[in-house]
Amino acid sequence: MMPDLTPKPANPAPPAPDFPWPNGARCALFPGFDVDAESVWLGGDRRNAERLVTMSYGGYEARVGIPKILELLARHAVKATFFVTGWTAEAHPAACEAILKGGHEIAHHGYLHIRPEPGDLATMVEEVDRGFDALKRILGVTPVGYRAPSGENFTELLQLLRDRGIRYSSSWRDDIRPYRHALPDGAGPIEIPVNYSFDDWNFGMSHRSSPRALFGREEVLSIWRDEFDQTRDWNGVATMIMHPQVTGRPMRYRILEEFFAHVRQYDDVWWATGREIADHYEACERAALPA
Ligand SMILES: [Zn+2]
Repeated sequence: MMPDLTPKPANPAPPAPDFPWPNGARCALFPGFDVDAESVWLGGDRRNAERLVTMSYGGYEARVGIPKILELLARHAVKATFFVTGWTAEAHPAACEAILKGGHEIAHHGYLHIRPEPGDLATMVEEVDRGFDALKRILGVTPVGYRAPSGENFTELLQLLRDRGIRYSSSWRDDIRPYRHALPDGAGPIEIPVNYSFDDWNFGMSHRSSPRALFGREEVLSIWRDEFDQTRDWNGVATMIMHPQVTGRPMRYRILEEFFAHVRQYDDVWWATGREIADHYEACERAALPA
């Protein structure tokens, strides 16, 4: 089928509503981690299963990255959302249980970290259902949030997620405030849009299959501080996309520590998980309904 190239906005959702943040906060910080472990290396190329050094990039996550990140979050009394692939829950149950024990939210991130491809809904039905099954079976969790593996999505997948009980998505790049998706058959999930400047993979991951320059502390911190400060001025949400196999590395961990200290100097920031933001958005929607 030929793609529809009719000139129109790709996203039919109306503008983000002007709902206030709770307790008079000026903006929100949404610390989100994508827990891919080895699945991110498998989803793109299954032959990596036997390339053990490539797999070890992801293996770092359960051995070091997740415990270190959990320790940092506990020390700063921060609750975060961890988007976990089903494969990771099955391969590393103890590391994932520690996330839950820390009081954090666990959300859906696919099963084998397969990038959603428009036109192939069957693959995504399996990927989504296996993800739900693994999180329920291993961790007893029914997630309400979803972040698309490798940051892609399409209309039928969004409908499927909504029909499976997903209340919020956190993948789109087109706003700085939450809004609700508009789907051909009615309302879709809430979107808590991400800010790709907060994707640590871009700054701190390099592999021979995707070599790139690493960014140092001052470069990353200046981007994160500037993005955050302006997002605060615009009353938005700063949604972070971090990975324990990146930010759990020694010098990257320090960057996060310093960024948290920067945000802490303001007393008007709502630090929130995706679920808390979705709860708040739904409460505002209900309050805005005509009596
Ligand atoms: Zn991922």
